[in-house]
Amino acid sequence: MSNNIPYKIYLDENELPKQWYNVRADMEKKPSPLVNPASGKPMTLDELSQVFCRELAAQELNDTDAYIDIPEEIINFYKMYRPSPLVRAYYLEKALGTPAKIYYKFEGNNTSGSHKLNSAIAQAYYAKKQGLKGVTTETGAGQWGTALSMACSYFDLDCKVYMVKCSYEQKPFRREVMRTYGANVTPSPSDTTEVGRKILAKFPDTNGSLGCAISEAVEAAVSTEGYRYVLGSVLSQVLLHQSIIGMETMTACDKYGIKPDVIIGCAGGGSNLGGLISPFMGRKLRGEADYQFIAVEPASCPSLTRGVYAYDFCDTGAICPLQKMYTLGSNFMPSPSHAGGLRYHGMSGIVSELYDQGLIEAKSVEQTSVFEAATKFARIEGTLPAPESSHAIKAAIDEALRCKETGEEKTILFGLTGTGYFDMYAYQQYNDGTMSDYIPTDEEIKNSIDTLPNIK
Ligand SMILES: *Cc1c(COP(=O)(O)O)cnc(C)c1O
Repeated sequence: MSNNIPYKIYLDENELPKQWYNVRADMEKKPSPLVNPASGKPMTLDELSQVFCRELAAQELNDTDAYIDIPEEIINFYKMYRPSPLVRAYYLEKALGTPAKIYYKFEGNNTSGSHKLNSAIAQAYYAKKQGLKGVTTETGAGQWGTALSMACSYFDLDCKVYMVKCSYEQKPFRREVMRTYGANVTPSPSDTTEVGRKILAKFPDTNGSLGCAISEAVEAAVSTEGYRYVLGSVLSQVLLHQSIIGMETMTACDKYGIKPDVIIGCAGGGSNLGGLISPFMGRKLRGEADYQFIAVEPASCPSLTRGVYAYDFCDTGAICPLQKMYTLGSNFMPSPSHAGGLRYHGMSGIVSELYDQGLIEAKSVEQTSVFEAATKFARIEGTLPAPESSHAIKAAIDEALRCKETGEEKTILFGLTGTGYFDMYAYQQYNDGTMSDYIPTDEEIKNSIDTLPNIK
């Protein structure tokens, strides 16, 4: 193996970052504030605290502190599965015959199988500290619900999960992992909430969507004493917690003298991408270094590449605060693609603002090409990747092959957000040749965007 970089770079426990990094502090133009749908004014801390735990609401509004201490209880939990390895994909490089160097940060090495645990444990901790009984949430593919049920059982909190119906049916084992950790799981839309009943009346055959499950979870939280709502992506607090990925990666890179040229992440709500790139973006914003950042989204749900930058609801039921983001409209019903974690109509406000400023690029990729890349990666590097993560793999392979043509010796870094053991139904369709690529028409997107709320 060349230049003394080990196949897997493992940091020591004592090299685990002690602080999260808040990229908003270094952004000259900040993301737009969350807006109260009733008043049309920016959400205050008190208003936000009715939906979220107070400390998390404060993090949501914090545009100024660059570094925030990670509480010791959270660090102790992180030690069960962190620091996560940074892997030099020597075998993939060789198989592709590329002069590029490829690294990936692997977040699938915990039972939930994804990076979502990084924020779940933080959110559960603050809920416990506030003396709450429990939390409610939605889950798409099931990774967030799994992560949250693990975190809640650790802190002995109740956990109510609304799971997008098509995932509930396609992934019964995910559901059982959540129940094993003590969570209560309901398929969404359901008749247990008012908003669920409304959506069912309007679209009786719906497969469900993240936006709709969010509405149900928020309603359940605000109507139950001692409960708050928690969200696994999109929010700035989640990107803050996920910055642990980028902080560790940067520590490992600096330790071994690795300088990434291109940093790639898949983007659903933007949390892993935001978390991975944040500290690097900080350097770029402060003029200390330069990097190319690429967000990769599914062609079936292309918020950045085909959406508009506008205030929109985070949920289908229009209960949540409004956020300015790249969106396809909260009424957008994505086709039931297999990357459940990327089926979200909107995007993190931070990622959206960075993209709008031209600091991040975006591309969309089609499902079958993603599974082709996933299969190649599994066979060469050994790890069976999650469909979501495979969007980043696809883009990294494309970039490495481009380098092969041009002879560029670029260093490519991507986020491998999770493993795909619960996605074998999707792999089965790919293996059987029955997987299709659905790309929404301009008209479909326009119809949904036409219903955006009128907030400037
Ligand atoms: C949820 C999820 C994603 C997408 O969510 P982001 O907030 O965009 O990071 C990506 N990969 C995996 C494995 C996931 O579980």
